[in-house]
Amino acid sequence: MKRWIENLLALQDVDMQIIKLKMRLKMLPKEIKDIQSRIQEEEETLHNAKGDFQHTELSIKQTESKIKELNDKITHLQQQSSMVKKNTEFKAMLSEIDQLKEKISKQETEEIMLLDQLDEHKSNFKDKEKQFEADKSNLTDEVEELKQMETEVKEQIEHLQGSRKDYESKIESNILGLYKRLLSKGTPPLVKINDSGICGSCHLKITPQTWTQAKKGAVISCDNCSHLIYLED
Ligand SMILES: [Zn+2]
Repeated sequence: MKRWIENLLALQDVDMQIIKLKMRLKMLPKEIKDIQSRIQEEEETLHNAKGDFQHTELSIKQTESKIKELNDKITHLQQQSSMVKKNTEFKAMLSEIDQLKEKISKQETEEIMLLDQLDEHKSNFKDKEKQFEADKSNLTDEVEELKQMETEVKEQIEHLQGSRKDYESKIESNILGLYKRLLSKGTPPLVKINDSGICGSCHLKITPQTWTQAKKGAVISCDNCSHLIYLED
């Protein structure tokens, strides 16, 4: 194999590695952000579940204090009953007590409903808490791993970019110019032609003239896609 092909393939190998690593690097911030927002979402879900639980707990306390207040009123009225002389006043008082008892009954029904909800909200909160604890450490680890990877990929790119200079210095400037133009498309600029004369990039057949040139190891491009082409010895 001609020296220019060997040298260019060596450079291309490094460049392809750099391109691949740069693509990986580009994807990493989004991957990290996605995981971070998953943590945040779960945190919010947990916060809401806790809020529901606490809110219900508070409602129960309020209901209980209303019931106590109503019971106190009844006790107070009953204590006063001995002092009531008139029958009409006594009847009015009894009716007031009945109304208060009805209110208590409503509050008690409300409390039963709230107690049911409390159980539900409590177990939901505990589930979410458990889920969050488990997920958070996994997801945080994932974020750390990705950040670590980010650092490593950056270092690898830097290292490769350092070494590519040596490879580049071995390439003639006219070939290098062609190569760089093709490289900007992101695919390998130098491709093999197979035994049937098919270009490894566009998969079309090259002309017999080009084939002859390639056979000699000349610097030559595909007739169709302009990629630099070579024949393996
Ligand atoms: Zn081609």
